[in-house]
Amino acid sequence: MSHVAAIPGRLLDLALPARCPGCGREGPPICAGCAPALDARLELPGGVPIGLPSDVPAPLLQLEWCAPFGGLVRRALHELKYSGETRLAVPLGEAVARRWRRVGAGGDVLVPVPVHADRARRRGYDQAELIARAAGRALGLPCAPILERTRATIAQFDLDRSTRATNVRGAFALRDRADRPDRAPRNPLAGRWIVLVDDVVTTGATLSACAEPLLVAGAIGVSAITVARER
Ligand SMILES: [Zn+2]
Repeated sequence: MSHVAAIPGRLLDLALPARCPGCGREGPPICAGCAPALDARLELPGGVPIGLPSDVPAPLLQLEWCAPFGGLVRRALHELKYSGETRLAVPLGEAVARRWRRVGAGGDVLVPVPVHADRARRRGYDQAELIARAAGRALGLPCAPILERTRATIAQFDLDRSTRATNVRGAFALRDRADRPDRAPRNPLAGRWIVLVDDVVTTGATLSACAEPLLVAGAIGVSAITVARER
């Protein structure tokens, strides 16, 4: 391992040109030659393709994603999350917007899946929120980071499928609690169709756990879209 890679929390100098995670070329965060990988599923019909074992996990109405978790997409998400290359959120969010528009799915508000506040503080940003903001700008929809993690969870990739659901159940809540009516005179979620946004989905357990408090708070439905799907 190089010494540079061993420095924790090292941030890239954002005054320097971005380097495409696909080919290493300097210029836009993802170069024109590599960008089509973001749209690997763009022309597929919406919904879970026939032949896949998993249905849309309850209580989600829809689950969409832009591309498989591999190659350029995997490296771009890794650099956004761990190398401070926040400029990648724009092309990733725009890919989310293209897929969401392509399946004609609608929605009123984009809500990013939050990382734990401690982790976001250490990193200085929340990658799903950056992706959701870019997607919201492209779609003309508001982005509202209204969820928080109420407890730390074990990284999902360390767990098997059934443990994943238990790990995240009840781990999310609304930031502005209903027990503070002085701060929220009107329920802003009532009658709204929420679209959750995250970087990667595997089983959908995290997205399902995020949907619960939104529905309890009066949302009429919760859909979800991620940049990538990992199997
Ligand atoms: Zn490239």
